[in-house]
Amino acid sequence: MATELSKFIDETPLCDTHEHMAKEQQYLDDSPDIIHALFMNYVYADFEVAGVDAGKLAAFLNQDDPDVRGRFEGVYATWQAVRHTGYGEAVRLMAKRIYDIDEVTPDSVGAAAPLQEALVQPGERRRLLKEVANLDHIQTDDFSWLCLPDASGPDFFLYDMTWCSFCNGNPDIPALVEETGVDVSDLPSLRNAMHALFDKYGAVAVAVKSQHAYNRTLTWEDRADADVEPLLHRHIDDPEALDVDERNAFGDWCWARGAELCAEYDLPFKIHTGYYAGSNTMPLDFIRCGNMCRLLTAFLDTKFVLMHISYPYNDELVALGKHYANVYADMCWAWSIDPYTSVDFLRKWIHAAPANKLFIYGGDTFNPVANVGYTMQARAGLNRALQAEVDDGLVTEKEAIALAARFMRENAYDCFRIEAKRETIAGV
Ligand SMILES: [Zn+2]
Repeated sequence: MATELSKFIDETPLCDTHEHMAKEQQYLDDSPDIIHALFMNYVYADFEVAGVDAGKLAAFLNQDDPDVRGRFEGVYATWQAVRHTGYGEAVRLMAKRIYDIDEVTPDSVGAAAPLQEALVQPGERRRLLKEVANLDHIQTDDFSWLCLPDASGPDFFLYDMTWCSFCNGNPDIPALVEETGVDVSDLPSLRNAMHALFDKYGAVAVAVKSQHAYNRTLTWEDRADADVEPLLHRHIDDPEALDVDERNAFGDWCWARGAELCAEYDLPFKIHTGYYAGSNTMPLDFIRCGNMCRLLTAFLDTKFVLMHISYPYNDELVALGKHYANVYADMCWAWSIDPYTSVDFLRKWIHAAPANKLFIYGGDTFNPVANVGYTMQARAGLNRALQAEVDDGLVTEKEAIALAARFMRENAYDCFRIEAKRETIAGV
């Protein structure tokens, strides 16, 4: 039964604070068929972990074969094992919403395959995101320094500037020189080049982003210029030269400069924390948000947005959000990774940490159809958490709606200065 709360959550345009959304031309060039639209997202990792035959998974995802029904037949037994995970639930939600599929089977997906053609036309990507998913705007990390206005929707598609290769201690120095025109030969000139990136793109970028937790520990140490200077020289001479400890030292230094520049340019710094995409590669000791306490203390003027609820270290993130004025939490992707824990995280956050420092949604995908499913999942989870709060007598329905408004929209508008960014982009 619809309540005032559920109606509000369904009808309010949702700010999407983290995607890797394909550009318009890329989407049209990829021209996803219905299997790619439904399954080329996080769920393929569940198939792998469930033990799917690799050849059958490859055949399933082979768009050159028009036999959609036959391709799905090959992995259908594995689908039965993963359909109730968060990733699997999102597939079922998008199948129902986009293709009116009640039960995801080889027959139903095969029968719906022709519907896909209408969705890979110019402008459909934006329509799916803005009108079907009901998003206010989306913030995309396209893995690049460039943050130029996106002609397919300049006020809708906003971009992060990547800082990942810096944090990894592995920046592409020739590319940096080419992008900035600054000749990088020592630490002062590297600082100048970093500054030049922010001068060029800081005004239109919505945030700075790094996912170096996929490559190294999130533990950070303050590094002296004198210790890092020789590392830079060796890295310039040979990008393969540094060992792991040296690379982390150089990365820590570059990460710190990024944090300083974020404060100077009033850009939030988004950091991937917690769970990995994919399968069979996750070192848990790299990814804890608590590894970053020294960094958070050292850069109190920088807003750090810690992503994915740092799952499975979600309680640690509640504690950081409660303790550090400069820590924000983003529930992007979390609703799909573990829907139950996400409800639990949200309820704990409400009663422990300030309500102005939480963002509720990002699909973390390049795929607009997947994004529709992920928004449905996030809205359902938000409603479940807030309705439980109301049912337990902990907040009134009016208060729950006010919280939803913050989490869905107001907090992102404040922290990422959305109105100012749109004005700047309109003037470019
Ligand atoms: Zn991501």
